[in-house]
Amino acid sequence: MSDEMENLPAQPGIADFDAIIVGAGFAGMYMLHRLRELGLSVRVYETGEGVGGTWYWNRYPGARCDVESLEYQYGFSDEIQRDWTWRERYATQPEILRYQNYVADRLDLRRDIQFETRVSAAIYDERAGLWTVETDRGERTNTRFCIMATGCLSAARVPDFIGLDDFEGQWYHTGDWPHEGVDFTQKRVGVIGTGSSGIQSIPLVAEQAAHLTAFQRTANFTLPAGNRPLTSDEVARSRETLLDDRKRARTTPGGIIAFEYNETLVDDMTPEERDRELDSRWHKGGFAFLGAYADLMATHEANHHAAEYARTEMRKVIENPEIADILMPDDHPVGVKRLCLDTGYLETFNASHVDVVDVRASPIERITPRGIVSGGKEYEVDCIVFATGFDAMTGALTSIDIAGRGGVKLKEKWAAGPRTYLGLGSAGFPNLFFITGPGSPSVLSNMIVSIEQHVDWIGECIGRLTSGNVRSIEATAEAEDLWVAHVNELADMTLFPQANSWYMGANIPGKPHVFMPYPGGVGVYGEKLAEVAAADYAGFALNA
Ligand code: FAD
Ligand code: NAP
Repeated sequence: MSDEMENLPAQPGIADFDAIIVGAGFAGMYMLHRLRELGLSVRVYETGEGVGGTWYWNRYPGARCDVESLEYQYGFSDEIQRDWTWRERYATQPEILRYQNYVADRLDLRRDIQFETRVSAAIYDERAGLWTVETDRGERTNTRFCIMATGCLSAARVPDFIGLDDFEGQWYHTGDWPHEGVDFTQKRVGVIGTGSSGIQSIPLVAEQAAHLTAFQRTANFTLPAGNRPLTSDEVARSRETLLDDRKRARTTPGGIIAFEYNETLVDDMTPEERDRELDSRWHKGGFAFLGAYADLMATHEANHHAAEYARTEMRKVIENPEIADILMPDDHPVGVKRLCLDTGYLETFNASHVDVVDVRASPIERITPRGIVSGGKEYEVDCIVFATGFDAMTGALTSIDIAGRGGVKLKEKWAAGPRTYLGLGSAGFPNLFFITGPGSPSVLSNMIVSIEQHVDWIGECIGRLTSGNVRSIEATAEAEDLWVAHVNELADMTLFPQANSWYMGANIPGKPHVFMPYPGGVGVYGEKLAEVAAADYAGFALNA
């Protein structure tokens, strides 16, 4: 951090910056660039020591994207993408982090980012029309606009297991992995959690470990990612088409052009056609499996065919039928928890030094100095990897003391579940924007497409407000109520609410069970955003 960045005074009623952005992942980085283009003064606060967000924190072995690299990159600049070469179909965490640092260099972003600084509070001063932002360094800065680029999957969570403090070995969370890496050679390792992070890390940790025990609460659907090096032709073609591809991605449901949806209902297909479709998509790898027919995510009957297909394919890989029984997902429809893409995950359980313990049948009771107790049995381990996920979508926001008009706290307003208009703003919190907030497609999409969609909308909105005579913009309570009801109604037309997923807040004890993302798709959502902006921000109150 440069000296001139430290200890800014906050003078009552005077703005230190036009905008403060919290977070320097993909969202915060692009937001900074957009606002600078408008000529605004901007400060970004970031807890980490560098840019990257997700890819700065999640350095566990095996971490890579599950949206293909050629689509999981910024699409706003032709120049940036032309000078960058992706190597694999799914890029690794170090490669994505290098890309983000390359973008930060190209756009000279770091001069406006204060690292190693956590925002602890944001309090709205109604009289001045300013937000006062407080940090863990004791700074207070005033800003007109406050933009939360805090991430949907950034609040890593270790469950409250009794005895963890007394554990004599080392423990790690995948979402806060040591920068120097971890050597598991000769170690007995317990991995708790078999979501995407567990499924990506277990094969690589097992390559080093003397013994690995996976503690599985929910068996997940996982399909081979089909990772491979990209050919020079693919890279060259993508350079020519990226900007057009990105425009097209914004019209699709998931923001991914490689994900082609079959519009046919399963009952209109013969069993042979259905199985051919599932088969070709499974073997191609990637999320396209979930688009094999139109009602796959809509009814149990339709979903069941895909789930059965997946179980059959998964079972083929596992040699021991008893282990296969434990690893078979059978308590939720396929796709309603995030589908996992793996590289050699199920095969790992064929090795004699790898076990799985079903902690749904016998939950983890406690951690002891030497290991993990489940079903009355102590599993001795030297290291524990918590692949236990995140307080998703709301955790990073509610851990900041955000107080809006009348001192109302965001955390209290959201006690029964997040309430937003379009996932962008919340009534009572003027000039406060969320990037990929709850109520937007966010985690159901290629996040970079959704991030760019939001950043462009917020950028245009702030540009119009600052050039006009408008002091503040704020979602109306009526628009918010209608939007929340609309999101719930759409979710109820799908199978999503029927699983204990982090989309539903079900992974956090005590968190309300509410489906948080908008399930209507990026394309439909984008049309709504454009309509709202064209109608002078319908559903928002603009105050002069
Ligand atoms: P983040 O990258 O999470 O960045 C938020 C930043 O805000 C963090 O650096 C955090 O430190 C900072 N921050 C939070 N609170 C504060 C505070 N109070 N004060 C200061 N700083 C704060 N999505 C996809 O679409 N495709 C993928 O393949 C994919 N793979 C993923 C793999 C993993 C392991 C994980 C965990 C997520 C993945 N995601 C993927 C989702 C991913 O989070 C997004 O794609 C994207 O990186 C989010 O960018 P962001 O800038 O919105 O948030
Ligand atoms: P996750 O999907 O929430 O998985 C957490 C795992 O920990 C689950 O298996 C969960 O079981 C288990 N768990 C949580 N608390 C537990 C407890 N008290 N006892 C036993 N088990 C417990 O988290 P994640 O794997 O980190 O992934 C989160 C999201 O990040 C993904 O869905 C995806 O969007 C993104 N991500 C993507 C990739 C990628 O492939 N690019 C990689 C990693 C993450 P339950 O299922 O029973 O709750």
